[in-house]
Amino acid sequence: MNLYPLALRLTDRRVLVVGGGAVATRRVPALLAAGARVEVVAPELTPALRAHADAGRVTWHARRFAAADVDGAWLIQVAVDDPVAAAQVSEAAERARVFCVRADDRTAATAWTPAVTRHGAVTVAVTDDGDRRRALAVRDIVAAALEDGPLAAAAGAAPGPVTAAGDGPVTVGGHVALVGAGPGDPELITVKGRRLLAAADVVVADRLVPGMLLGELRAEVEFVDAAKIPYGPAAAQEEINRILVERAQAGRFVVRLKGGDPFVFGRGGEEVVACAKAGVPVTVVPGVTSSIAAPALGGIPVTHRGVAHEFTVVSGHVPPDDPSSLVDWAALARLRGTLVVLMGLKNLPRIAARLLAEGRAGDTPAAVVQEGSTDAQRVLRSTLREVADAVTEAGIRPPAVVVIGDVVTALA
Ligand code: SAH
Repeated sequence: MNLYPLALRLTDRRVLVVGGGAVATRRVPALLAAGARVEVVAPELTPALRAHADAGRVTWHARRFAAADVDGAWLIQVAVDDPVAAAQVSEAAERARVFCVRADDRTAATAWTPAVTRHGAVTVAVTDDGDRRRALAVRDIVAAALEDGPLAAAAGAAPGPVTAAGDGPVTVGGHVALVGAGPGDPELITVKGRRLLAAADVVVADRLVPGMLLGELRAEVEFVDAAKIPYGPAAAQEEINRILVERAQAGRFVVRLKGGDPFVFGRGGEEVVACAKAGVPVTVVPGVTSSIAAPALGGIPVTHRGVAHEFTVVSGHVPPDDPSSLVDWAALARLRGTLVVLMGLKNLPRIAARLLAEGRAGDTPAAVVQEGSTDAQRVLRSTLREVADAVTEAGIRPPAVVVIGDVVTALA
């Protein structure tokens, strides 16, 4: 059978979905993503469909199908198991000359949906002559190639609408993406972060960015190692800002890759401000932060039912007694919940001493996770009273997070 492939522009067009079960649940999101005005006819809905209806994203007619439902529809999706009921819908669709997709028997319908994979601006749809598994297999091969292979850069080249701090879509000229690379395991970058990385003309990376991610860059990509900029920290940040703005203004797509999440002690905010001042659009792609991931991979949940209803993430790079410290250590000592300290190894003796002096119990469980999510990961368990000495004794090195609270022993 010769199918005629076609892509539909469904924005604001009425699409009728008959059925409210599992199949409809899987079909409706893509229709909504295409902007369709979805009307569901079904006596009952799954909770997920009910949520769409409650939020006003779909219109629900809580009854069985009636022939008049097809009137004014541009497309009909039949998502009912009962072949007699399904045939009734497709006959009505046929009479009204509306294309109709049938979940129960796709060859009995006037249209069927291809196997699809989407990568940024590129959508690949694979149809078949009746052997759905073959279409799915081909789709999977293409998807893998778009993810990793030589096609990745081509598909990623248009990273889609870019927003400047929440403004409308920007499509012209160069731009910057501030991408969280995750805590260390190269697989812990987000799908979007990886796609944008594959499309970058320029990559500016931090010290803590997983090296494996950088090994995948195309040869022609300009790579800037931010850790090697030879000034003090303040001047180096100015220099990074300058590089981001200048490359973007030259029309290039710059990915600023940062360890963990860009806005958790990552100075991402300063770079957003610098770009905004220069009129350069910025996309922010959040990352998996080490403050949650490193404890998790060390076997410590930052919250746990009945144990901790809060977790607080603080930077320990300024000692507690330093006048420039912005952390209220006395308040933190009064918390029952979890305290996660980043950049705190050097000052750990003073941090622990201060928490004890302010009243946190000495036998509060404490742990340190070094290089979480990497092959070099180490976990040390102790108590607040003893953790600083234990760290010295064990030779724990940065980067490491310190976790203080009863969650440390919650799963132990
Ligand atoms: N933006 C990063 C944090 C930057 S501050 C994030 O969201 O994860 C750098 C600190 O993060 C380090 O000093 C250390 O405390 C922590 N850190 C980063 N990666 C880590 C890892 N893999 N394991 C443990 N701690 C890590």
